[in-house]
Amino acid sequence: MPAPRLRSRSLRKVFRKVSGGVVSLQYKKKKPKSAKCGNCGAVLKGIPRALPFRMRSMAKTKKRPERPFGGVLCSKCMREGIIDKARQYYNTSQ
Ligand SMILES: [Zn+2]
Repeated sequence: MPAPRLRSRSLRKVFRKVSGGVVSLQYKKKKPKSAKCGNCGAVLKGIPRALPFRMRSMAKTKKRPERPFGGVLCSKCMREGIIDKARQYYNTSQ
């Protein structure tokens, strides 16, 4: 039976081969959910599913795509949003 603090279901079990060739059971924190688009809710690509302490040590360029609204909107919604803005501007300027 594991220690009471390890009986939590918020931890995941990982079998790791340790030195000596022994397979031991380790308890790790679960990964956070993948980032979603703020408009349509689709899973955002190019964003790692890593714990905050790993994200902190990561370069900014590795954490989100380098484009307008990168890491907030998916590429499809970003494109549509920019086209909509351009159309609004065109309609109001005439
Ligand atoms: Zn979207």
